[in-house]
Amino acid sequence: MGGIASIAHRDDDDAIIARLIESIVDDDAVIAEREASKIVSMAAALRIAKKHAASQPISVQMRELEERSIAAEIGLATRVNDRAVQNRMHAALELVDGYTATLDALAESRISARHAMVIVETGRALQDADARAMYEATVLERALRDTAPRTKAFAEQVVEELHPRSITERHREAVKTRTVWMQRRGDSMSELGIITPTVLAEGIWDRITQQAHETKTVQVARPADDADADDDAVYDERNLDQIRADIAIDLLLTGGPTIDPTTGAISGPAGGLAAIHARASIVIPAVTAAGLADRGATLDGAIPVDADTARCLLAQAPSWERVFTHPIHGHVLATDTYRRPANLDRYLAARDIHCRFPGCRRPARVCDRDHNHDWALGGTTDACNLACLCKRHHTLKTEKPWKPVQQRDGSIRWTSPLGRVSTDPPERYVIFRDEPDPPPGDPPF
Ligand SMILES: [Zn+2]
Repeated sequence: MGGIASIAHRDDDDAIIARLIESIVDDDAVIAEREASKIVSMAAALRIAKKHAASQPISVQMRELEERSIAAEIGLATRVNDRAVQNRMHAALELVDGYTATLDALAESRISARHAMVIVETGRALQDADARAMYEATVLERALRDTAPRTKAFAEQVVEELHPRSITERHREAVKTRTVWMQRRGDSMSELGIITPTVLAEGIWDRITQQAHETKTVQVARPADDADADDDAVYDERNLDQIRADIAIDLLLTGGPTIDPTTGAISGPAGGLAAIHARASIVIPAVTAAGLADRGATLDGAIPVDADTARCLLAQAPSWERVFTHPIHGHVLATDTYRRPANLDRYLAARDIHCRFPGCRRPARVCDRDHNHDWALGGTTDACNLACLCKRHHTLKTEKPWKPVQQRDGSIRWTSPLGRVSTDPPERYVIFRDEPDPPPGDPPF
């Protein structure tokens, strides 16, 4: 390849990339403009929901149902979970009502929707209108020339400057946001987090760290050179992080709270709350349970669990419910070990896996069992008329004209109050052929 030829190619490519960048910038401009228009529509929809709610002499909970129903309509039309839609509607209304300059900047594609949301979400800490106006002017100026994450960091500093209350007052408020959350991370691992006052977090960290160090001093580590290892010795191969995690998990799964309001006792782990054990349902293919395969075990029918953990749980603990599925077509065979299905409830949990409202993934074990055709109006109490619905969607169906009709194969045909139709099929673990679920009480093994 000659020098001149490759320089020519290089120039061509540079010109192409320059054009591509121009095209990307143009697309971004159109997207920003459309996002602004979508935000205005979402805000308008929420305003209508609020107007409907205000016109009726009903409870706060019933008023919120107006919002939920409209959010579910939008969710159905756009294939987005209705909770997410409801959150976006609220952010949209905040933006439209409280941040006019930001909305204009988005509509003129001078910032992205992400920038706009950073400004709205971080600005929530400021209640005073003047402080908020100053906040918007200052942060928007930064948003015009910086990335969204950097704008967020800057916005947080501005909020700190403008906040009228002292750290003591704010801490008193912030304590109310303490919470525990869980997030799945893949490879059968999850993240468990706690938001708590810093003093307590430091205390917990210090305690489990001390305990982990103490464990390390009494456990024997494997010698660096394998030749020095004693074949009969039991070595602790865990590092400090792993020991710390093991201790924290052990304390949470087996310990009891010091103050127990159910017994009124200030005591150690005995009865009351300490007697409550962890619950979860593991779905495991029969061949995997028998150790003939290593695939397909799941928690709540959806979250993959490694075969060793699943078999270990099957073997030992009475507090884990077991659900067996057919290895070929994946239909539910029976619930509980070597027994016929204990009852309809377990059958439904096994069939539905999660709430049957379109798009919802709340696990069946925390769901209500809903009569699709109302029991009071002649609906029967059997699998063909029952389905799992979470509290949120059960209430929505009861209070608003959302109509489910169950088909022979367990699919549920939903008709929304505005007449939009969506069909939710039952989950299949493995799909090879089309066949209705076997009725409860008649397992083929
Ligand atoms: Zn639901």
